Parts: sequence; C-alpha cells; structure tokens
Amino acid sequence: MSGRKYEELIVSWGNGTAVKSPNFVFIMADDHAVNAISAYGSTLINTKHIDRLASDGMCFTHCYTTNSLCAPSRAAILTGTYNHVNGVYTLTTKLSSMFPNFVKHLQRAGYSTGIIGKWHLGDDKSSEPSGFDHFDVLLGQGDYYDSVFNLNGKLTNSTGYVTDVITSKSVRWLETRDVSKPFFLMVNHKAPHREWENHPKYDDEFQDNIRLPDTFNDNYDNRAKAAGAAKIRIREDLKYDDLGLVQPVGGAEVGQPIKPGSKERKIPDLKDSNVITLIDKKTGEKFEFSDPEYLAEFKYQRYIKRYLRTVLSLDESVGNILDCLDKMGLARDTVVVYTSDQGFFLGEHGWFDKRFIYEESFQMPLLIRYPGMTSGGVCPDIVSNVDFAPTLLDIAGLPSPSYMQGRSFLKLLMGKTPPNWEQIAYHRYWMHKDLQHNVYAHYGVRDQRYKLIYWYNEGLGVPGATDGAEPPEWEFFDCVEDPLELINCYGDSRYSDEVSRMRALLDAKMSEIGDVPRH
Ligand code: CA
Repeated sequence: MSGRKYEELIVSWGNGTAVKSPNFVFIMADDHAVNAISAYGSTLINTKHIDRLASDGMCFTHCYTTNSLCAPSRAAILTGTYNHVNGVYTLTTKLSSMFPNFVKHLQRAGYSTGIIGKWHLGDDKSSEPSGFDHFDVLLGQGDYYDSVFNLNGKLTNSTGYVTDVITSKSVRWLETRDVSKPFFLMVNHKAPHREWENHPKYDDEFQDNIRLPDTFNDNYDNRAKAAGAAKIRIREDLKYDDLGLVQPVGGAEVGQPIKPGSKERKIPDLKDSNVITLIDKKTGEKFEFSDPEYLAEFKYQRYIKRYLRTVLSLDESVGNILDCLDKMGLARDTVVVYTSDQGFFLGEHGWFDKRFIYEESFQMPLLIRYPGMTSGGVCPDIVSNVDFAPTLLDIAGLPSPSYMQGRSFLKLLMGKTPPNWEQIAYHRYWMHKDLQHNVYAHYGVRDQRYKLIYWYNEGLGVPGATDGAEPPEWEFFDCVEDPLELINCYGDSRYSDEVSRMRALLDAKMSEIGDVPRH
C-alpha cells in the first residue's frame, strides 16, 4: 500500500452519485497456466503486458480453483459458492439465471455492468448472463475465427480472430459506456483453450525447439491409479485438429476415436503401425514418422508452440486494454484483474488438459492491480476462486451476502494478511471417467505444504460421469520436498501425523461448506 490509508482512498474515489468505489476490468483467460506467464517465472514466453499487472499490482502465487474445469470454475467465481451448491458440476451443466451472483449485487449498487467473450454456463434464455446490463458472449466454446456472439439475446456474426474481436468489443464498450456510473467489465477470452489456433501473424514465433518438461516421460509409478488411467497424454491422446494436421494415408479411419462414436480421431502414437505421414493443414508441409520418440517430441513441440502463440494474442489484448484505460484517464480509478478459470498441463507428466487437483491444473494465475493500493507485491497466501466474489464486493464497499461461501481477501491485497488466515484450498472434480479424458472423480485439500487427495472414483449419477466405479485410493504429497508430485506418501509412516492432520482438515472443510464425503 502506497501512502494513503484504505479508508481515505475509498472516500476519495467514485463520482459520488452511486457507490464510492472503483471501476473494475476483470480479464479471464481459458486454460492459461502460470507456467506460460513470465511474471510467474516462465522462461517459455515473455508476457510483457500481463507482467505490467504484476509490476503495479499483486501477484498471488497460491490461488486455486475449486474444480479444475471451465464451467464449474466460472460458476464458483460468479457466485462465490462451491459446485455442490451452485449445481454446476460438469462442462454441460448450466448456471440458472435465477441464481444470485456478485455482478447482480454490483448492478443493484449502481454499477454499469458488461461481459464480453466466453460465458460457457448455458446458451439458452434460462442460463444466459444475468446481472449484466450488456452481454456479448460466445456460444459454448465459440470459434477462433469468425465466431458467433449472443449480443443481449440476439445472435450476431463477427469477423476475425476471436481474441482480437473480444478486445475490440471490450474497448468499444469502455468508450461508449454510461459515464455517470462506475463500471464492472468482464473480458472473458476463449484463448488459450484447445484447439490452440493462433493468429497468423504469430506463425513464425517460437522457431527453436522447446525443452521437454522433466516429467514428460512420467511412468505414473508411486501414484494412485488415476494418473496412469487419464487419457490426456500428449503422446497418445491429441487429435489431428489439436495440432493443425491431417494425415493422407488410410483416410479418416486412422487413429482411435477421441471417444466412442466420435468422428474425431487421435493421432496414432506408432504402437500399431510402422510409419505415419502427417501434413500441416495450412502450409502443406509433410512429415513422416517411424520413430515413436521422434513423433512424441514432434507432438509436444507443435502443441506447446500453438498454445504459446495463442497466449501472445492474449498478452497483446491485455496491453491494449491497459492502454485504453490510460488513454481514457481511467487507470487510476480502475481495479484490473487477470486470471484464468484454471491452470493447464503444458507437458508436465506427459499431459495436456486439466481436471486434476495436481498443481499445474489446480493453480490459477491471479494478478490484481489496485491503484494506490498495490505496487508489485507477491502474496503467497492461499486463496480460491470462490473468494473472488466476496473480495470484489468488498473492494466495491459492499457486504458479502450470506449465501457466499468464499471470504474476502482484500486485506491480503493490501499486504496485511490476518494472522488467522486459513491456508487451505479445497478441490472436487465430479466428472468421473468422462468418456474422452477418463479422469477419476476426487476431492482433496492443499495447505502451504501438503496435499491430500481422496480418489473416491464414482460417478454418483453426475451428468457426463460414468458409473464405472474404481476402488478408492488416497494420495498425500509433500509439496515442498516433492513439488512435481511424483511420490505418494500416504502410507509413509514418517508422514502419519501430517496425514491425520490433513484428513481432519478435509473433514472440517467439507463439513463447513456442506459437501458430502464418500466413505
Ligand atoms: Ca478452462
């Protein structure tokens, strides 16, 4: 905090006609891992504009999602509740527009509210964005090019690259907004979500080969069965479109369907054939493979470079929005948030995708620039996406409604962590063995040092989950001694006291939030 006291800032801000509160621009990417943000120490990419939010803001290094999946995380962020409360368990469950969310509270308090970009909580009238004066959102996942938008209930076409379209729509909204009110603008990007289509101007970026992660060839020993069973391996489970490839020999029947009945097929991993030819869809360049290791490395390079190139457009978008705030004289009175609905595996453990409580997908980036309040700090305390809603309301000077289960971390943003701050994050993934990714259902907690996971491994009738129950298992990781999470210490007697303590924490957390354990 620089200079002035918090109370003084609040009094000196706002236009006095609505609430004495700052404006907000909340920017959320889709599947952006901290390992692809230079402010978090990534050496893969220079995200110079996102990093501006770290230089002038607060960088949270232990922010976690309560469910590492798009729709459930978005529901938790908007409502400040866990998924067993808001009902958004899976990718296909919708958030009823009747459900309360923090934007409705801002709107009622006099804020002008807008959302542009990805919604992903239902496309019909009963689940379209609510609490927003203006919405201009993608249908479902949207498309990287020429995507269709739902503009306040009416379908409209767009032309161009989706990240740029969302950016220009956002800038236009800022320029034409109701200036008599403070505003809250949510800018929800599609990128860097699968299938990682980048803007052509970045085609030539990342020419050099990128080093494989240390755990790329993980054999999943010493872990619960779930790690080895997941079908999210770069080596085996990427489809042709993921890498912008077609294969010319054998027609469309080469490769396994991504799930039963699907026409989309995976690129083979050369277990079943001696040679495969692949062709770049855009350039026509031809690649031939007979060595499984060479093919696996090729897939990784294609994957990581496509992913990083989509992040370049995201970073450019953040730069444009920050420049817009500067030009309009709004930067001083506007809180800017950058986050992602969850993290992502960038080849760690051989994986792409998310869903797991394992660190790479569990951790969310969270950078908040609160002018006059933040100046390049790093906050190592544990916060969760269910905490976002109460925190943003707190910044706006509004109380946290009793239905919200998260807690305001405004004091952390001010660099004043309360001594009794609970250092726990809870995660539950419900979509047991969905037919494409085969990740097992689980719940668990992480504190500053340890992570406890219970693989209850049942579908429980959740849509999109299967009933193929597996025997339950426990996992326990020492995140300081074993940050890559390679050794399950659940049965290790040296950790028995800590395991008991973490089991008690898990029980207490589930009891507190009303989630039902499986025994
Ligand atoms: Ca996502």
